[in-house]
Amino acid sequence: MIGVAVLGVTGSIGRSTLDLLARHPERYRLETAAAGRDVGGMLEVCRRFRPRRVALAEPEAARRLRDGLGEAGLHRIEVLSGSEGVVDVGRDERVETVVAAIVGAAGLASALAAAAAGKRILLANKEALVVAGALFTRTAEAGDARILPVDSEHNAVYQCLSRNDEDGLPWRDTADGVRQLILTASGGPFRDRDPASLAAVTPEEACAHPNWSMGRKISVDSASMMNKGLEVIEAHHLFGMEPERIRVVIHRQSLMHALVCYRDGSMLAHMGAPDMRVPIAHALGHPHRIDSGVDLVDLAAAGRLDFEAPDPRRYPCLELAYRALEAGGGACAVLNAANEVAVDAFLQGRLRFDRIAAVVDGALEKLAPPAPESLEAALEIDAAGRWVAADIVQQSIC
Ligand code: NDP
Repeated sequence: MIGVAVLGVTGSIGRSTLDLLARHPERYRLETAAAGRDVGGMLEVCRRFRPRRVALAEPEAARRLRDGLGEAGLHRIEVLSGSEGVVDVGRDERVETVVAAIVGAAGLASALAAAAAGKRILLANKEALVVAGALFTRTAEAGDARILPVDSEHNAVYQCLSRNDEDGLPWRDTADGVRQLILTASGGPFRDRDPASLAAVTPEEACAHPNWSMGRKISVDSASMMNKGLEVIEAHHLFGMEPERIRVVIHRQSLMHALVCYRDGSMLAHMGAPDMRVPIAHALGHPHRIDSGVDLVDLAAAGRLDFEAPDPRRYPCLELAYRALEAGGGACAVLNAANEVAVDAFLQGRLRFDRIAAVVDGALEKLAPPAPESLEAALEIDAAGRWVAADIVQQSIC
């Protein structure tokens, strides 16, 4: 029986993971879980899976959860609170596998703690790598942790690399024999809209992804293609690949997730239905294959696979991510912080969609910190990036 912690258990990835755990009760047990503030969602998780310990980041929500568990006769479940509580459930000694699925830089501390504790980490929280990629992979190596990518494109790359007989990253010399990686992108809901009309799009339109069902932040990132930019940075850290060897191509059907192109001209592609249970099941079961409950793609019904180059006028955020990666130091952490602030402002109706890139650009112009060497340094850069971005958002409103 494998003990699992799901961090971000009430979210989209968290729910997909629970679906898989429920399909394999003889193999996996939910030992611990964490979320931000969703008391109802966490109560439901506790009723269904009876974990030993759970944590909510918001202390008041944790207090209400304790009351709710008491009323439900589940007082044996220990409730922790605050970011320390979230970190603690991730490094719990009975946990072997940690699903890191908190959204944003908020997931960094718990992902780093799990890496230091030598866990097997199923990494969905790409922002942790964007904010502190070198620190994270170094910590994983020192702690003897293994990283299994859950992001569909990175999981696809992992599966197409010929060394996937080893259990998880980091590997040395991953890029040996590889000429380039190609990550596919759906292009999001605005792929056919006139770029001039993007000033008027609403959060609901931005969150209506054509192929995937996801949380709101990553949905907006997909519409702006900042998501693909963050994924380029993530691929750089996971697979040790230089930015110029990581390419992005729009593929509308979202059936092919990534390709690994080898020196001899071979191009290995990974396909699967656009359902996150596929990569999560791969990472959970690796090196074995387990059922995910997802149907195979009906190729004849799909009919065709289209590919096209992304238009930089429509997707300026993608270029900004490459720029931050080239700049090095703490630029990617600034990019991420500014993007989180801008996306939040857009979702609250305080910023136009087409201003997100301008906020990130402005923050990158103003700040050029060194690469973070510790969690504290990463959090400082994150805070500075947020402060500068909030100021630019405020000026955009005036
Ligand atoms: P959701 O918004 O659906 O869920 C986010 C989860 O994070 C919730 O459980 C939320 O808890 C929790 N959370 C938020 N803030 C905190 C905090 N401070 N401390 C602890 N928990 C917190 O996001 P997704 O599931 O869509 O995405 C999660 C991560 O996975 C992101 O990094 C995303 O980029 C990545 N990812 C997602 C994919 C998808 O298909 N959804 C695909 C590939 C990657 P609460 O509900 O209580 O607020």
